[in-house]
Amino acid sequence: MFTKVESFEREWTGQPVTRYVSSISGMSVVLVDFPGPIINAYLAVATEVHNDSGTPHTLEHLCFMGSQQFPYKGLLDQLANKIYGTTNAWTDTDQTVYTLAKAGDAQFAKFMAVYLDHVINPTLRDSSHLTEVYHVTPKAREAGVVFSEMQAHAHSADSLMENVTQKKCFPESSAYRSETGGMLDPLRVLTNESIKAFHKSMYAPDNMVLVIAGQIDENALFRELYKFEKECFPGTHRTFRPFVDTEPDIMIPKSETVTVDFPDEDEEFGKVQVTWIGPDHDDGLANTALDVLGAYLTESGAALLQKELVDIPDPLAVSVMFYTRDYLKVSFSLELESVPTKRLTEVSKKMLNLIKNHIVDLSRVQDCLENTKLTLLKRSEEHSEFLCTTVIEHFLYGRGSLEDDFKIKDHLETLATWTTAQWTETMVRLFASNNITVLGKPSAKLAASIPKEAKQHKKQLLQKFGKEGLERQQKLLDDAEREQSKPIPLEVIEEFKISDPKIAFLKSQTERYGRWAGEEEALSIHYEKFDSNFVNIDICLGAQNIDEELLPLIHLIYGSEIFNFPVEGLTAEEVMTGLNHDTIQYYAYASYKGFNEVVQVHVEAESSKYEKVVQWMQKCLLETVWDIDRIQVCIDKALNQLAETKRDAESRLTSAKQRYLFKNSLVHAENLASYEQWLRSVDINTVISQLEKLKKQWFKKDIFVSVTGKVKGDNVSAPWKQFFATLQDTPSKLALPRSYQHLSTLGENLNAESILIPMSSTKTAHLNLMGHLDMTYTSSDHIALLVACEYFQCVEGPFWTGLRGKGYVYGASLGPYIESKRLQFEIYRSSNVYTALCEARSIVNSTTTLDDTLFVGAKRSVINNYANSRASNAAAASSKVVDVEIKFRSEWTTVDDMPNFVDQFVKDVEAVTEAEAKRVIQKYVVPLFQGAQNTTVFCALNIGEVDNLKEKLEKEGYMVEVEEIDEGECVSDEGSETDRDDDDGSEDDDDESDGDTDDTSSSDDE
Ligand SMILES: [Zn+2]
Repeated sequence: MFTKVESFEREWTGQPVTRYVSSISGMSVVLVDFPGPIINAYLAVATEVHNDSGTPHTLEHLCFMGSQQFPYKGLLDQLANKIYGTTNAWTDTDQTVYTLAKAGDAQFAKFMAVYLDHVINPTLRDSSHLTEVYHVTPKAREAGVVFSEMQAHAHSADSLMENVTQKKCFPESSAYRSETGGMLDPLRVLTNESIKAFHKSMYAPDNMVLVIAGQIDENALFRELYKFEKECFPGTHRTFRPFVDTEPDIMIPKSETVTVDFPDEDEEFGKVQVTWIGPDHDDGLANTALDVLGAYLTESGAALLQKELVDIPDPLAVSVMFYTRDYLKVSFSLELESVPTKRLTEVSKKMLNLIKNHIVDLSRVQDCLENTKLTLLKRSEEHSEFLCTTVIEHFLYGRGSLEDDFKIKDHLETLATWTTAQWTETMVRLFASNNITVLGKPSAKLAASIPKEAKQHKKQLLQKFGKEGLERQQKLLDDAEREQSKPIPLEVIEEFKISDPKIAFLKSQTERYGRWAGEEEALSIHYEKFDSNFVNIDICLGAQNIDEELLPLIHLIYGSEIFNFPVEGLTAEEVMTGLNHDTIQYYAYASYKGFNEVVQVHVEAESSKYEKVVQWMQKCLLETVWDIDRIQVCIDKALNQLAETKRDAESRLTSAKQRYLFKNSLVHAENLASYEQWLRSVDINTVISQLEKLKKQWFKKDIFVSVTGKVKGDNVSAPWKQFFATLQDTPSKLALPRSYQHLSTLGENLNAESILIPMSSTKTAHLNLMGHLDMTYTSSDHIALLVACEYFQCVEGPFWTGLRGKGYVYGASLGPYIESKRLQFEIYRSSNVYTALCEARSIVNSTTTLDDTLFVGAKRSVINNYANSRASNAAAASSKVVDVEIKFRSEWTTVDDMPNFVDQFVKDVEAVTEAEAKRVIQKYVVPLFQGAQNTTVFCALNIGEVDNLKEKLEKEGYMVEVEEIDEGECVSDEGSETDRDDDDGSEDDDDESDGDTDDTSSSDDE
C-alpha cells in the first residue's frame, strides 16, 4: 500500500510534487507534475560495490534480458516500442537507473509493472551473461556487449584520469573508488554468480525509487503497483542504506599531483583535472554557493580562469570546465583541456594560485548568482530530467525532506546578501583545500603498444583455448542463442493494445513579421508564442554567396568567439559582462538545427529583456571592433584544440565526410585538414580586411530571425528596425542554403570509393556506409522510409539482435540524410568491423518478410522520437519553425492555411503499411547493402587494423584511400618543437548530420 509522505508545490512554476512510500515493500514513488507529450520514468537503485568488476553495469544490461514472469529476451523493448516508448538505462558510481520515455499515457501503468518485474526479478541466465557481458569468439576475439562498450572507453584520456582521481580521492573502504562500468581484466573473469549475489543484496524494493514526470493517471499506476507488490515482490529488505550508512568520513588528507599517460601519437597537448571534496549533500546553501563560484571561475570570457588561462596569446588551455559529482559529500573538479604537455605542471599550479589569490568581484558574482537562478528557473520550465535527478539524489543521500532539496529560492536570497569577504572566504575554503591534481600526458609509445598488445593477447587466447576450445566456444554461443531466441507468445504482446495513444503535443501560436508581413524595411521574423518567462532568439545567417577563402573565418570567429570581441564604445570585458547581465545563455554555432550552411546565433533571456538583447545582437554582430590580439588568440586556441579533436573517432569520421563529400561550402571549410592548413598559414595582417569583406558579403537583408517563447508586450519586430537599417539590400527574401547544393563529385555519386581514417587513440572502429538518396521532406516515400529504417535499427530489430546482440558492435543505425542526399548505415564502436558490415548485408538481404510486432513497434518508435524532440514548449516551438520555414515551406502561403505538421506526421506514420515498407526497403535499403557498387564507405579505426580492412574492401571492388596522418602541409612554426602535423583541426565535433535527425533517432546506450 502506497501512502503519501509529502506533497508540495515546486518553486516558480507551482506544479505539484508528491512522494509516496509503500508500507509493504518500502519502495518509494515520486510523481512530478509536468506538461508536455512525454512521460519520463526513472527507476533508480542505489548500488554500492567495492571493486572494479563492473557488476552494477553488467546487471543493468542483464535486467533487459528477461524476467521471471516474462522470461523472453527483448520483450521489454518490444513492448516499450509498442506503447510509444523507449527504455534505456545508465550506471554511475553510486546508482543504476532504468528509464522509460514515452509519448502519451496509454498503457503506461501496465508497462511499468512489467518493467519492475524485469528489474526486481530478472532471470540472470548464464547464456545471457555469455553474450551480453563477455565471451571469446571462435576466432579468438574478445566480445560481449558490456566488454566491447568498456573496451572503447578503456584507453581514453578521460577514463584513465577519472580512474586515478577516484583512487586518490577516496580511501580503500569507500565505494566511490570503484569503476562501476567495469575494468577489462575483472570483466573477463566476472561470474554470473557474483552478479546474482549483487542483485540480491542491492535490488531490494526499499532501495529503489520510481520517479515519474509527466501527465499520468495516478489511480491506474497505483493499482498496478499494488497488484505487483502483492504478487511479485520478494521479501528481501535492505539491511543498510548504501553510502549513507557505509561511507567513511571522506577528506583528502594531503594534496597530491599524479601524472597519467594516455595513448596518443600527438604528444603536444595534455589535460589537467583538479578535484576537491566539498560540502555535504544536505547543505543546500553551501552547494548553491559552490555552483555559483564554479560558474564565476569558468563560464564566459569574463570568468577568471577563462581570462587568465584561455583567452591569452599562446593559450595555456583551450577550455576550462567546472563540474560536480553529487555524492554524500559533493566532490567537484576543474578541468583544463588542450594544455601544452610541457607546461602541465606549471599550468595546474598557476590555476590554483590564481584562485588562492583572487578577491571575488562582487558585481560579477552577483551576475553569476542571478544567472544561476534564471538557468534553474528555465530548466524547471523545460526539462523534467533535471527535476528527476534532484529526486534521485535526495533518495540516495537526503536526510531531510524532498521539499528541502527542491527549495533553492531561500539559498539564492541569502547568497544575494553576501559580501565580497564572504564570497572570497568561501572560495578559498573550497578551492584552496586539499586536492588531487591529475596531469594527463599523451604518449606515442603507449599508442604504439595498443595494437601490439592486442596481437599478443590474441595469440595468448589462441594458445589458451586451442583449436578444440575455440570450437567449443562456437557451440556455447549457439546454445546461448538458441536459449535466448525463445519466441515471445503473441498474447503477451497483444495485451498491450492501444487504439488512441493520447499524445498531448504542445502548441504555440505562429506570427510572422517583417518582409513576410509586407513591411519593406524589416527582417523576416518568425515568432512562435507560448506562455513562458523567457524568450529565445535565433539569428540565422546563411553562408551562401561568400568567397570560399573567407569561409574558415566563419568557423574561427562566428563558430563561438564573436561574443568575446570589443564593440564600438565598449571593451571586450564590458561586452561579456553586459551579456552575462542581460542574458541567460548565448552562443554562436556553425550549424542551425542540422542545416550546416547556416550559422545560428542563439540567445536566451528573460521576456522583459527582449529589446535589450536585440540591441546587444546589433552591437556584437554589426559593430564589432576587430582587435588583432584577440584574433591571434582565437587562432592559437583553434590550433591547440586540434589534438583533442583528432583523438575522437567520431570527429575524425565527420571531418573526413566534410572533406570528401562536400566542396566550396561552410561544412567543407570545417574539415580538419583544410582548416588546420588555413590556421597555420593565415596572415594575421590581412585578417581584418578579410573580416570586413566577409561582413559585407554576409550581413544582408535576407537574414532570418526565429523568436520563440514570450516577448513582453508582444512588440516583436520594432526593436529590429535599427538592426535591419544598417544591412545591405538583397533581391532575395529569405535564403537558407542547403547542404545538397554543395556536394563534391564523390558526394554526388557515392560509387565504389572508400576512405579509411587510421587512429592511434581508439581500439574500436566507427563505420559509415552510404548511398545516394534523392528525396525531399515532402517526397511520398519519405515517411515510409523513416519507418523502414527504424524497423532495422530499433531496439530488438534485426540490427539490434544480429549485430549488437552478437557482440559485433555497440550500436548500429540506419537513416535518410535528406540535406546531404544520402541514405546512411552507421556502426558505432565495433571490435570487429568488417564482420559487422558483412553481417549487416546478410541481415538486410535476408529480410523478406516483416515481423508484425516489430513493424508496429517501429512506427510507434518513430512517433515517440518525434514527440521526444518536441518535449518542451521551447523544443516544440523551434521544431515548428524548422518545419514551417524550411522543411515544408512549399505547402502553404499564409499562416492561416498552414497545415498542422505534427498531426499530419503522426497520421502519415500510422498509415504506413507493411507492403509500403517492403517496397521502400527494396527500392532504397537493399541497394545499399549489395556491395561496392553505388556505395561509399568511411571508417575510422585503429591504425593496426587498416591494412586488413583495406584489402577486404578492395577485394569487393572499392577504391580505397587511406587518410594520411601526416598531411605534409605543416608550415613549421617556431613555438613547438615536436610539431606533428595531423590531418584535422576544428572546434566542433558535431556531426554534419542534418535536419531530419529528430525523426530518425539512433539506438542508445543501455
Ligand atoms: Zn552499457
